[in-house]
Amino acid sequence: MSQKNGMITLIGAGLTGPLLALELVKRGFQVEIYERRADMRRVHMSAGRSINLALSARGIHALKQAGLWDDMQKIVIPMKGRMMHSAASEITFQPYGRNESEVINSISRADLNIALMNAAEERGVKVHLQMRCTGIDLSRNILQLRDEETGEKHSAAAGVVIGCDGSASEIRGEMLKRSRFNFSQQYLDYGYKELTIPAVCGGRHALETNALHIWPRGNYMLIALPNVDGTFACILFLPSGGRDSFEQLSTRAAVLEFFQSRFPDAVPLMPDLADNFFANPVGSMVTIRCSPWHFEGKALLLGDAAHAIVPFFGQGINCGFEDCTVLLELLDRHGADWNKVFSGFERARKENTDAIADLAIENFVEMRDRVGDARFLFRKKVELALQEKYPQRFVPKYAMVTFLRVPYATALKRGQVQDRMLTELCEHIDRVEDLDWKKAERLVYSELSPLELP
Ligand SMILES: Cc1cc2nc3c(=O)[nH]c(=O)nc-3n(C[C@H](O)[C@H](O)[C@H](O)COP(=O)(O)OP(=O)(O)OC[C@H]3O[C@@H](n4cnc5c(N)ncnc54)[C@H](O)[C@@H]3O)c2cc1C
Repeated sequence: MSQKNGMITLIGAGLTGPLLALELVKRGFQVEIYERRADMRRVHMSAGRSINLALSARGIHALKQAGLWDDMQKIVIPMKGRMMHSAASEITFQPYGRNESEVINSISRADLNIALMNAAEERGVKVHLQMRCTGIDLSRNILQLRDEETGEKHSAAAGVVIGCDGSASEIRGEMLKRSRFNFSQQYLDYGYKELTIPAVCGGRHALETNALHIWPRGNYMLIALPNVDGTFACILFLPSGGRDSFEQLSTRAAVLEFFQSRFPDAVPLMPDLADNFFANPVGSMVTIRCSPWHFEGKALLLGDAAHAIVPFFGQGINCGFEDCTVLLELLDRHGADWNKVFSGFERARKENTDAIADLAIENFVEMRDRVGDARFLFRKKVELALQEKYPQRFVPKYAMVTFLRVPYATALKRGQVQDRMLTELCEHIDRVEDLDWKKAERLVYSELSPLELP
């Protein structure tokens, strides 16, 4: 048994797998996917898989290229900004962008997954469900598989293998056994738990629909993203241990008391809070870096399998879909010269995925702590004023990452320069009118070249 000619075998029908698969079929390849889960279109999802994702420019671009975005309009809700809920139940709105087109889009992970699986199958991708890959012989591309329903084990010849199997990738695990494979994983000392705000009568949303709601509380936070069925998918991010942690919330009374005192305006909206809390597991968050992502033109890692990041910039899947865009561009340029395509892919992506990993960790502090701070909000106003005056040069970091497809590494570097500039310009002022525009102009022209857009 040896590698199947002309076939591409993907491991994982999560989010990147089906999108990549259908684009590969479009290019004339035969594509199959092995997925360990049961069919989510028929089986009720297990607790812990109902989070919502924020889709933005990079993800949307890839979905448009695949011809899927227009149809997805009915399952997304645009979020125009952050709605901050203070401990005193005061509400402040902070727009994400300059206008109504600069929004991020809330979508249920399950709805997105189902739409992608349907589209992949319609275009001829063969999806083997409940087939867990338990290993791979990388030199011959032979997969070890376990049927999750019967427990039966068998081997199968694979084509070129692309590991789209997420942050705990089996394919990466096999690469790790070989020499000269670099790998690091860093867990946050935080966990997350999914909760729900049900729809109110008539299926309406209990809070403003077109916003991402945040209850920032210093070193922890609650967030809520709208769903098309009138519910909100909430995520509570808390330290794993110590003060105000998951460890301490071990009884219904403790949970209710915690929410009542920390998120008082959210409690009346969550009638099943305690049941919900104990029904859902605590998830963990990890940053994974590794290299090389490919093996002898026979296997490649893509998406979270290559570079899992923490979720605080809402970029995990946007980055994974951008991986697909870049890989397909290289394939269109070089044809099926897999060595060239895979090494070019890693060269193009690694610096950028490392950058978004750093940006995502940095954004955790911003979301849970700084968004409620008056100085932070003032800096945001100055940022927008600078962008308005120098739109080619001063583009806020958030906009570069979210609304544009500026390489992440560029966004990180320019963001650091702009942060220093803002600190200098905002130091002694409290009103945008008092900005020293001469100094601003000098700084902008000396430190920021015009931004090149892909
Ligand atoms: C709490 C949270 C919030 C997030 N919010 C956002 C957000 O707002 N915006 C955003 O862009 N991203 C967000 N993300 C990140 C996003 O979910 C991931 O980046 C994205 O799902 C990665 O896609 P993927 O295809 O690489 O992996 P996955 O979507 O994880 O898919 C991997 C698939 O492989 C299957 N699989 C795994 N192992 C095997 C095996 N051995 N054999 C066969 N099949 C296997 C799995 O069952 C799964 O279906 C968030 C993540 C979390 C945890």
